[in-house]
Amino acid sequence: MPTDYDPSLGNKFIFVTGGVMSGLGKGITAASTGRLLANAGFDVTAVKIDPYLNVDAGTMNPFQHGEVYVLKDGGEVDLDLGNYERFLDIDMTSDHNITTGKTFQHVIQKERDGDYLGKTVQIIPHITDDIKRRIREAAAGHDICIVEIGGTVGDIEGMAFLEAIRQFVHEQPADDVLLTHVTLVPYSKNGEQKTKPTQHSVKELRSIGLQPDILVGRCDDRLYPETKEKIALFCDVPTDAVFSNPDVEDIYHVPLMVEDEGLDEYVMDQLGIAGDALAPSERDNSWREIVTGDVEGAVDIALVGKYELEDAYLSVHEALKHAGLEHGVDVNVEWVNAEELDAGHRERLEAADGVVVPGGFGSRGTEGKIEAIRYARENNVPYLGLCLGFQLAVVEYARSVLGLSTAHSAELDEHTPNPVIDLLPDQADIDEMGGTMRLGSYETEIEPETLADELYDGPCIERHRHRYEVNPNYIAQMEENGLRFSGRVGNRMEILELPEHPFFLGTQFHPEFRSRPGRASPPFVGLIEATLERRETILQEGVSN
Ligand code: GLN
Repeated sequence: MPTDYDPSLGNKFIFVTGGVMSGLGKGITAASTGRLLANAGFDVTAVKIDPYLNVDAGTMNPFQHGEVYVLKDGGEVDLDLGNYERFLDIDMTSDHNITTGKTFQHVIQKERDGDYLGKTVQIIPHITDDIKRRIREAAAGHDICIVEIGGTVGDIEGMAFLEAIRQFVHEQPADDVLLTHVTLVPYSKNGEQKTKPTQHSVKELRSIGLQPDILVGRCDDRLYPETKEKIALFCDVPTDAVFSNPDVEDIYHVPLMVEDEGLDEYVMDQLGIAGDALAPSERDNSWREIVTGDVEGAVDIALVGKYELEDAYLSVHEALKHAGLEHGVDVNVEWVNAEELDAGHRERLEAADGVVVPGGFGSRGTEGKIEAIRYARENNVPYLGLCLGFQLAVVEYARSVLGLSTAHSAELDEHTPNPVIDLLPDQADIDEMGGTMRLGSYETEIEPETLADELYDGPCIERHRHRYEVNPNYIAQMEENGLRFSGRVGNRMEILELPEHPFFLGTQFHPEFRSRPGRASPPFVGLIEATLERRETILQEGVSN
């Protein structure tokens, strides 16, 4: 079968499938393996396959799918890519998220353009060829590419991808490709580790021509040696190809767990690259040092939003954690439902050491968010507003300080007489959903001698995802009344702060997407530092009273 495969590319591929059920954390297992391979000196990248018909995740509801993660090129992708970026400390592009929608759209467009003249266009070979091409292109230039297939083996949605992988394995030299299957090993009532679900999902894989090389069992604990032997026997792999991935409290400890099990060494052996790896004593140990650093005490951050689901604000949680690691303190995120401030959530807000209003769309919970911002501003409580949280800080200021009681964002009140947040001029005439936003990385110019300047040591290039922005007609009035726009691009306002407040910062961009363990995002580091200072002050005031 003709393909555009070039074996001289020479990279290695690790495909990761999931069995039994979704949500087993195969992305974290895969990213953790990648981290260890990177520690051993390899250039590792990743591809996430999402077998849904959406072209990208841009229009997907965070409550169903978790946050929409934004890449530097503006790609709106599955949140698993965020995990790969954080674990591997790399920047990926949209090409690293392959969806059914993307491949079908491309192949159908080619058909319309006459590229297949005379041929019947089919899933095999046209879609499968396109999938293989995308994987190879994303992998080009890297030593190892981890390819995670979303969903569970057996789903109709995933079939074309699994068939593409079958062909891929067939075409590629044997030691260039590894298939890792992550499954669930549940306990029976009498405490036995049950392997039957694993056996069944491997049977399913084999029926479509895929024989796994490695099995990873997700379990409450480590797999017993007998469990591993049983899985090995029935799934036709050596016993030392069966690994446990027990539950751990902190996902950043999964790489340490995987290393303990020797999964990385096994992978390197199988791929024939063990000889190219750095000696264990020379490997990069910084991940371990970062995630096992000393931690003393905790601060509470109120996250004021509309979805009570950690995944809906995953990168914000992660960025807070990174900032906590940097200051040696745990960060508890207290969920505050913006619609329930008057139904018990105000206490949570007021008990917190700092407040975050994250990004969002639509009007649900708006007044609660504005109220939380007012509370933080008036009570000198550290505040960080991200995108919508930045915009609502402008609205709150216009209402409370400028006296424009009707001020609003035009997104949330079309008819407001004072649209302090309004549509971007070049977006105003586009009303199609998806792909109409200001997306991706842009550099912000930071004013010297501001809080933003203190936080960002060097250029501020952050990722964006918004349609609306500060209305230039109100900027002078805002600044005359004490609000400072300390970061801009031309006449676009990107950062705001209140010089009179201990820490009140809003960003039109989403700094959370560039935060990494060991390289926490500056606004988050500043927020946590301010909460610690505030605690210290309260403590001292208490002592002197
Ligand atoms: N809904 C706002 C806008 O479109 C903010 C977007 C966001 O918070 N990501 O501008």
